[in-house]
Amino acid sequence: MPAFNNYCNGKWTGSESGETFEVRNPADPDDVIGEFPSSTAGDTRDAVDAAVAAQAAWEDTPAPERGAILRRAASRLESRSDEVAELLAREEGKALPEATGEVGRAVNILYYFAEKALDLGGDVKASSSRDTRLETKTEPLGTVGLITPWNYPIAIPTWKLAPALVTGNTVVLKPASRAPAVAHEVAKCLDEAGLPDGVLNVITGSGSEVGGTLTTHDEIDAISFTGSTVVGQQVGETAAADGKRIQLEMGGKNPTVVMPSADASTAAEIVSDGAFGGTGQACTAASRAIVHEDVYDEFVDELVAATEDISIGPALDGYDMGPHVSKSELEGTLDYIDVGVSEGATLETGGSVPEAPRHESGYFVEPAVFSDVSSEMRIAQEEIFGPVVGVIPVSSYEEAVMLANDTKYGLSASIVTQDLSEAHQFTDDVEAGVVKVNEKTTGLELHVPFGGMKASSSETWREQGDAGLEFFTTSKTVYLN
Ligand code: NAP
Repeated sequence: MPAFNNYCNGKWTGSESGETFEVRNPADPDDVIGEFPSSTAGDTRDAVDAAVAAQAAWEDTPAPERGAILRRAASRLESRSDEVAELLAREEGKALPEATGEVGRAVNILYYFAEKALDLGGDVKASSSRDTRLETKTEPLGTVGLITPWNYPIAIPTWKLAPALVTGNTVVLKPASRAPAVAHEVAKCLDEAGLPDGVLNVITGSGSEVGGTLTTHDEIDAISFTGSTVVGQQVGETAAADGKRIQLEMGGKNPTVVMPSADASTAAEIVSDGAFGGTGQACTAASRAIVHEDVYDEFVDELVAATEDISIGPALDGYDMGPHVSKSELEGTLDYIDVGVSEGATLETGGSVPEAPRHESGYFVEPAVFSDVSSEMRIAQEEIFGPVVGVIPVSSYEEAVMLANDTKYGLSASIVTQDLSEAHQFTDDVEAGVVKVNEKTTGLELHVPFGGMKASSSETWREQGDAGLEFFTTSKTVYLN
C-alpha cells in the first residue's frame, strides 16, 4: 500500500506516533489509495516551528523570485495533471472530467498568483505636502494555518497556499483526512520547484489534533478555514479569541429562482447541473429550486427528465456522477431522503442506492428531486451535501426572494429569467456572496472574490483574486519627507 508522509521542514516524514490512517476509493472501498500519518499535536508544533524559522528569509526573498517558484510548480503540476486527476477521482470520487477540471484550476491558480508577485509591494499616493512621498507598503502576516475540506481537495488548498506564499508568509496546511493525497502532489511540485525548507508544511491527521493545535498555537498569525459551518464557527471563535486573523468559508443552501419568463428546459438544465455536479457535494450546490407557479409543472417534468438522464458509476469509467466520498456521507443523504418523505414532500425521482452490481460496494445514490417542498422543511433549511434538490412553488417575485433569503446561509444564488430589470433587482435583493443570472450556482472564476454572507462565511475577508492576497497581508502607510 502506498505510504504518504508529512511534508515538514522540506522533508517527507511520518508521525512521531507511528500511527497511520487509510484512505480508500469511495467507488470501490477495496482500492486503497494509501496510508497517511496520524499526526500528533507535537508533529504539528514541529511544523509550526519550521514555518516560523523559515519566515524571515522567505519574506526577504524578492517577490518575483517567490512568484517564479510558483510558476515552476504550476508547470510541473500541469505536466502531471492527467495522473493527478486520476488520483483525485480515485480518492474523492468525482467524475474524471470534473477532477481534470479541478487540477487545471489548481494549475491556473498557481500561474495567476505567480504573476501577482510582480504587483506586490504597495502604492505611491499623492500627498498634500510637496516634500512628502506618501506610500502604502504591504507586508506578510507571518506564519499562517490553512485547514481545508475534502470536496475540492486540490483547488481549495491551492487557492489558499498560493496567495499566502507569494505574499511572503510561511504555511502549515492541514488537508482533510478523507482526501489528503492530492494536496501532497502540490507540495511535491513546490518542493521540486525550489521552495525553501520550512516555507510550506503539510501535516495530516485528525481535525481536533492537527487543526486544533494550529487554531490555538501562539505563533500562528492567521487561520484560513474552509469546511462545515459547525466546525468553522468553533475554529473561528477559538482563533479570534487568540487574536488571530480568521477567514472562514462554510456551508450553503443555495437557491435557484425560476421566473415565468424562463424556458423550463433551460432552467431545469441549470438546476440539475448545479445540484448534481460533484455528486451534490459542493458548498455552492443548487439545493433549492424556487419556481414560479406559471412554470412549475413543466419545470418539475423537465428536471425529473434531466435527473434521470444522469449516469452513475465509478469516476474513472466515464459516468456522469460518482459516489459520495464516504459511507457516512452516503448515510447522511439517505437519512435526508427519509426526512423529506416524512415531512410530506413528493419524491419525484431518485434517492435510492442503485442496484447494478458494479455499485454494490461503492457509496452511490441516485440523484433525487423533491417537489412540493415548503421553506420550513428541514430539507429546505439544512445543508444535505449530497445530490438532492427540493422544488418550492411560489406565486410572485417577492415571495421567491423572501424564500431565497429564508435560510441561515448566504453563499451562492441564481435566477433564471429573461427580464433584465428583474435580474438586476435580484442581484440587489438576494443575500448571497455570489449571484448569478441564467447560470448554475456552482462554478467560480479564479480572479474575482469568492465568499458568502450570514452563516456561510466570516464575511470580513474574501478568497481568490486580489481579495485572496489581502487576507494574507497587512499594510503600513509611510510618510517619507
Ligand atoms: P469539516 O468536517 O468541517 O472539515 C473541514 C476541515 O476542518 C477538515 O480538514 C477537518 O479535518 C478540519 N477539522 C475538523 N474538526 C476540526 C477542529 N475541531 N479544529 C480544526 N479543524 C477541524 O468539513 P468537510 O466535511 O471536510 O467539508 C464539507 C463542508 O465544507 C460543507 O459544509 C461545505 O459546504 C463546506 N465547504 C465550503 C466551501 C466554501 O468555500 N464556502 C467550499 C467547500 C466546502 P478532518 O478532515 O481530519 O476531519
